[in-house]
Amino acid sequence: MEGGVTKDEIQITLEKKWRRNSCLSLVIAFFLIFGGLIVAAVIAHRSSDAGDENTGIGDLARIEQQIADSIGNIASNKTDDTPKTSPKKSSAPSAIDNSVNEEAEKEKLLNFFVELANKDDKDETWIGSIARWTKSSVSVGVGEGTVSDRQSMCINTYIDDFNSVSSNVKLFRDDTVDLGIPNIKIYYQDQATFAARSSGTSPYGYEEGGFNDDLSFKRAAVFLSDIIATLDESVECQVIRHEITHGIGFWGHSDIYFESIMSLPKTTYSFNTADKKVIEMLYNTGIPLGAKEAEVRSFFSANPF
Ligand SMILES: [Zn+2]
Repeated sequence: MEGGVTKDEIQITLEKKWRRNSCLSLVIAFFLIFGGLIVAAVIAHRSSDAGDENTGIGDLARIEQQIADSIGNIASNKTDDTPKTSPKKSSAPSAIDNSVNEEAEKEKLLNFFVELANKDDKDETWIGSIARWTKSSVSVGVGEGTVSDRQSMCINTYIDDFNSVSSNVKLFRDDTVDLGIPNIKIYYQDQATFAARSSGTSPYGYEEGGFNDDLSFKRAAVFLSDIIATLDESVECQVIRHEITHGIGFWGHSDIYFESIMSLPKTTYSFNTADKKVIEMLYNTGIPLGAKEAEVRSFFSANPF
């Protein structure tokens, strides 16, 4: 029969439908059950998270909290970074600055040393070479004339300052003139005698040295005009200290350290840190006697001071 459907066919169709329906029912039931579980889970999740049945407010609160946390993180990152980065920013460059400054300071000190120990205005063949006292005890005393108490105290203070930095060679005060001592002999002369002796080299004082072949000191003579007694007390003392410094191996002058005792004469110079440092460099480092400027520079480059 045309278009006719048998009972079996109807049954099959129904079964199929049912199956389909049942399948559809299963799918619907599946989605209903599963979807219900998801919804229930979401609701449970939301209520537990928000602690509030009004999940909208909970969400807003959470978002605000997240924003707040983000700001907090940014803020805390900033505060965390501040101690992490700012010391780096301040300490790293300052460490570099310090080392640059340290190098510059050493170079400055070395230049100062060279100007004092390797140079002089006098045109003498031995000038320009390192020389120093090598005996362990070197006497300093007044061999001619009579110094005042304050001048005497100034000599003693210089001896103390030298001994505070020199390790192997020590100065001591001894005014005995017998047997060629003192080693550093001070001639305190009236102005006419001094002028005749100094040939106008300086109005206040000057120094002469005598050397062994290896350029160790044999003797030193410090000449002082008694005109220094008319100077301001501090200046008077600095003249004495300046001349004795010539007598330990520094013939040059330098304004590299403006206030140095070996700077060009002024009214406010002093025996300062740099003056002590160069005594250390000359007496404690083993810088070879006779060394010229180039050798001095390479020596201190190889033997950091
Ligand atoms: Zn001088």
